[in-house]
Amino acid sequence: MSTNTPSIPTAVLGFPRIGRQRELKFALESFWKGTTSEADLLAVAHSLRERHWLQQRAAGITFIPSNDFSLYDQVLDALVLVGATPTRFGSGEVTLQRYFAMARNSSEQTAMEMTKWFDTNYHYLVPEWSADLTFAVDTRKLLAEFQQAKALGIVTRPVLIGPVTLLKLGKSIDGSDSLALLPKLVAAYSAILAELANAGAEWVQIDEPSLVTDLPEAYVEAYRTAYAELTKSPIKLMLTTYFGALDENLALATSLGAAGLHIDAVRAPGQVEAVAASLQPGQILSLGCVDGRNIWLSNLEALDKLIYRLTGRLESGRLQLATSCSLLHSPYDTADETKLDPRIQSWLAFSQQKLEELAALSAGTQAAPEAFAQSARRIADRASAESSFDPTVRASVASLEEQHFQRLSSYPERAKVQRNELKLPLLPTTTIGSFPQTAEVRQKRAAHRKGHLDDAAYEQFLREQTEDCIRRQERLGLDVLVHGEFERNDMVEYFGEHLKGFAFTQNGWVQSYGSRCVKPPVIYGDVSRPEAITVGWSSYAQSLTTRHMKGMLTGPITILQWSFVRNDIPERDTAFQIARALRDEVCDLEQAGIRIIQVDEPALREGLPLRNADWEAYLTWATEAFRLATSGVTDATQIHTHMCYCEFEDVLPAIAALDADVISMESARSRMEMLEAFGREGYPNEIGPGVYDIHSPRVPSAEEMQQLLKLALEVLRIDQVWVNPDCGLKTRGWPEVERALTNLCEAARATRAALNL
Ligand code: GLN
Ligand code: ZN
Repeated sequence: MSTNTPSIPTAVLGFPRIGRQRELKFALESFWKGTTSEADLLAVAHSLRERHWLQQRAAGITFIPSNDFSLYDQVLDALVLVGATPTRFGSGEVTLQRYFAMARNSSEQTAMEMTKWFDTNYHYLVPEWSADLTFAVDTRKLLAEFQQAKALGIVTRPVLIGPVTLLKLGKSIDGSDSLALLPKLVAAYSAILAELANAGAEWVQIDEPSLVTDLPEAYVEAYRTAYAELTKSPIKLMLTTYFGALDENLALATSLGAAGLHIDAVRAPGQVEAVAASLQPGQILSLGCVDGRNIWLSNLEALDKLIYRLTGRLESGRLQLATSCSLLHSPYDTADETKLDPRIQSWLAFSQQKLEELAALSAGTQAAPEAFAQSARRIADRASAESSFDPTVRASVASLEEQHFQRLSSYPERAKVQRNELKLPLLPTTTIGSFPQTAEVRQKRAAHRKGHLDDAAYEQFLREQTEDCIRRQERLGLDVLVHGEFERNDMVEYFGEHLKGFAFTQNGWVQSYGSRCVKPPVIYGDVSRPEAITVGWSSYAQSLTTRHMKGMLTGPITILQWSFVRNDIPERDTAFQIARALRDEVCDLEQAGIRIIQVDEPALREGLPLRNADWEAYLTWATEAFRLATSGVTDATQIHTHMCYCEFEDVLPAIAALDADVISMESARSRMEMLEAFGREGYPNEIGPGVYDIHSPRVPSAEEMQQLLKLALEVLRIDQVWVNPDCGLKTRGWPEVERALTNLCEAARATRAALNL
């Protein structure tokens, strides 16, 4: 169908790189094992890039990215590009070997630190800044990829992480001010832009997502200085922001002199009008309108109206339509799903579908009526689906009252009752839940999944593993036992599979870091619990021992955080629905005679919004959800929680607000700081600061752990302290675990003896 309105240019900010069949993952892993060569690995990378570019061209995308590919991480690539990799790994040209040495721990060397990319579940390697750092531009990867695409007839828009965001993402390792490096870094970027211009690039996408965060004044200044210089380049800059609203940085962003500004109109739809109004004359607006981070269909009709308004406002050529952020955070193609309920599948858009959505939006309703009609049909179908609105669930959440969010008595009173009931020694010993998932456990699970092992045989195997695990814990002399979690693969998947409202994909992988991918469950509907989930395993385990068996659940925030969430109701509502379902599970465990129940919330801190101003609202509903899940029990039932991988200091009040009787946490790395903070804040309830770092194969001695307990007792009351590892043991082997736990129990005994307890 022909149309009079010219189509609007489209852009993709980055394409997933792991491969539709996770080809890159397998190529990396076999290269690391030494079974394939460097050439084999590079050939896979080469063909993945080619495939992804052709796929985008076939969809009609105008601005196709290059340098979005990475063998491990785009931040590490940026460091290689400017020649600022940590010198402790060597100097000079970065070989593949050195590249991976920086990325991955080995027996010889600790890799660079890894942390979350803004508020996503992608993890990047943290730049290490020091005053004496020098820069030496190495554009080989950048140019080679640009040329590779050019040879296919595609002039790409290369992606660079902007210099200010790059600086801000790093950490100073010598105490010097990282911003002092800015002039040198900007000079490196100028040289890079010059080389790209020479190679024939017309545009560069320069990512500055730090512009959607609270910026200290010095960084505002850094933006001005950096871009005053970079905009001298003949190359056009698409200054790219995502994951939130520019808000008070809007005037800064539009004033930097970039030819275009990309904004996230999915995460922050409210900013569109304000941004359009404050653009400089001639400045291009890239509207990030197709969600790069979640998997739901776009509402084409609604977007078309927005686009219509914007085209009325901006002269022709000043609007581009784009993914909200890189598609790195999206899976490949819903067409690869063959087992998913087709109805749910029709509501989803993975990367390929997102390309098609961009193409349809670009063409407009006149030119692409079928795409618009289909989108409207599917959106209406999803909105009216029974699963989207379960009256029983809604009524149950709506009827919640204050009493559902608090325990019957305050902690001091509960503690008395629990002491009488549980009769635990002071400094009780326990573990975090999982025990080694041995090759045998994984094999049997795989065989069961494939149908080679029937339900009864698998169940029998799990029972044996559980019993063996309990006997070992008894022999070790632990006070509070766990069943070992052998029936669980991934904890969120395990609970999702037992809850209504969750769906699972076969190929919905997204990269977490390096070769690691996760396949988050899809929360598509109202959540409820058709039947008890863990009660069978916990009761069986309790029946085998006279010691206390700790029930083991995953908390509402962690389940939410590690899933693709609904976008048609607030996250808080989904969190409360999950919490409501878990509350029934907690009460059923209590009914079944389980007197200690742990509800893990390792992802509580991860959910923190990017802007400080939004923290309180999030922490309020997140802690409410936890309390909703855990407060249905009597005073005598002891509620535990567990958290890991985080700095706790800034969320300590929220941790206290969970009002768990006991919290165990990862602290082996910055142990003292954490304990001091807990002591200083007067944390009232019980704490098990991890005394055994399970992330390392090293077995700590009893003396070492005793020393740590001594430190803990300097800031905490004796009746507050528990003795445990810092996380679950599923990734470790039995021999090291048994030795470490022997030492752990010995440390507890020796400490009790030294204190004449
Ligand atoms: N109970 C879980 C385990 O032990 C906790 C996992 C976690 O902290 N991430 O594996
Ligand atoms: Zn943990």
